[in-house]
Amino acid sequence: MTSDSRVSSRTPASPERRDFIREIVAADVREGRASEVVTRFPPEPNGYLHLGHPKAIALNFGIAQEFGGRCHLRFDDTNPIKEEQEYIDSIQEDIRWLGFDWGEHLYFASDYFHQLYDWAVHLIKAGQAYVDDLSADKIREHRGTLTEPGKNSPWRDRSIDENLNLFERMRAGEFPDGARVLRAKIDMASPNINMRDPVLYRILHATHPRTGDEWCIYPLYDFAHGQSDAIEGITHSLCTLEFEDHRPLYDWLIENLPVPSRPHQYEFARLNFTYTVLSKRFLGRLVSEGHVRGWDDPRMPTLSALRRRGFPPEGLRNFLDMVSLGGKGTSAAEIEMLEHEVRDVLNRRALRRFAVLRPLRLVIENYPEGQVEEVEAVNNPEDPSAGTRKAPFARELWIERDDFMEDPPRKFFRLAPGREVRLRYAYFVTCTDVVKDASGEIVELRCAYDPETRGGDAPDGRRPKATLHWLSSEHAVPAQVRIYDRLFTRPDPGADGDLYADLNPNSETVLQECLVEPALTELPVGETVQFERLGYFCPDPDSTPGGLVFNRTLGLRDTWAKLQAQAAGP
Ligand code: ATP
Ligand code: MG
Repeated sequence: MTSDSRVSSRTPASPERRDFIREIVAADVREGRASEVVTRFPPEPNGYLHLGHPKAIALNFGIAQEFGGRCHLRFDDTNPIKEEQEYIDSIQEDIRWLGFDWGEHLYFASDYFHQLYDWAVHLIKAGQAYVDDLSADKIREHRGTLTEPGKNSPWRDRSIDENLNLFERMRAGEFPDGARVLRAKIDMASPNINMRDPVLYRILHATHPRTGDEWCIYPLYDFAHGQSDAIEGITHSLCTLEFEDHRPLYDWLIENLPVPSRPHQYEFARLNFTYTVLSKRFLGRLVSEGHVRGWDDPRMPTLSALRRRGFPPEGLRNFLDMVSLGGKGTSAAEIEMLEHEVRDVLNRRALRRFAVLRPLRLVIENYPEGQVEEVEAVNNPEDPSAGTRKAPFARELWIERDDFMEDPPRKFFRLAPGREVRLRYAYFVTCTDVVKDASGEIVELRCAYDPETRGGDAPDGRRPKATLHWLSSEHAVPAQVRIYDRLFTRPDPGADGDLYADLNPNSETVLQECLVEPALTELPVGETVQFERLGYFCPDPDSTPGGLVFNRTLGLRDTWAKLQAQAAGP
């Protein structure tokens, strides 16, 4: 479970970038086998895109861009039972968010249902397909295993006329679901199970999101996919390795049908992450069973969730630049590495703001009542062009409860009785007294400030060991903050056979009594800022002017950088 060969050294994508797929494409162009490079990204609209999909998206769109060709977005919508318009819409939104564009090349496999039907008839007429009356279970039984050949169906040798007649009646709706299927007639003894008379069409009396009730038979993936590629003039059909064994069937169909072009399929490794499950089916169950609030719940590994959580798409793209295509293993990329790239982008871009998650009142007894000063706060120390802002400072402040200890252990350098700290951009304060309630809980700190330290520097050069963030009580705005932890408790969820058992019961903590600086009321949804000393946060779409809600995008601690530093040695 470590980053293996698939994580290569850091080389940004460029026309010179090479991997085995780009080598093939380059050779095809050089040697005249492809005059224009045409790729496609072919999602099935049966769920939201997840963290694995960007690898396929960046590869297909990236190659088209690099070779001056085009990339289609094609929905593989051949299973009306599972597919929905909601997914069609979200997938388009996610691809655009990632930064890719299909232009006018939006297609649907369902656009080709008539053509596919005609090609099925073509196979029947050529004696290469037949209608089978066996049930799904019987078909499975007849299929054989990896070590045993399959058995022919008793219906395999029907006459062409009978097959034509039955297939037409399947289409006309004469038979119930599952009564019959259309199969290719290839070889029940083939060592490749995919070639043992694969099913091409099945009966499904279901309303399709695009074709409505026009059809009650639907092509299977294997029959729709390669032919759709051929119709669209796809030159390089890139898919993940589980389709490697389907390639002989892909080629058989292309060879045996009068298709307008001859695409080729190439396979690359799926991307997986530690602490993450990438299966639309399982993710859909988490949603429908209420383990999360929706597909875009910020704990989900979907693109819409990451967007909601405030991940910048550049972070994802930078990560993908380092992911290689090969590697047949099933090992997963470390999720910390993606987070590292995201922090890297945010560190450079995110504005710094003050927020207090667990507030503790601090009163500066020698500060004039009613006075408000505006101190100058830097928006982003990494980017001087981001400028500064004015932050109101007054006698009554909020600081972080964690920043004070009445009886501090040796390594605690923040505020404690009698100790002086710097309030960032403002003054030094010394804690003079601690106020407690009847139960003994600390409710307020009394402090004295040094007026000579305005701006955060002392004329005598003394330097407190800690610098704290703070908010003026009068000006602070209440907010709810949602802190996320990993959705799964272990790097390899489900390794013991039960994914549910590995769900993290504490994947979300909601803090109701947070306070933020006034500038944050105007922050648009989707813009991530750094709450100083606390992490990266962005407004959630649930946020309203009267009820601010923030998501924590990520904490500040970069475990990947730490791992790298350890690996590099002292
Ligand atoms: P899931 O199993 O999660 O439903 P899928 O493979 O069925 O995923 P599709 O929407 O059908 O998902 O896939 C669209 C494209 O994205 C395919 O080309 C597929 O190979 C690719 N893809 C899906 N998951 C990954 C992944 N984890 N890594 C790389 N590519 C992926
Ligand atoms: Mg699928």
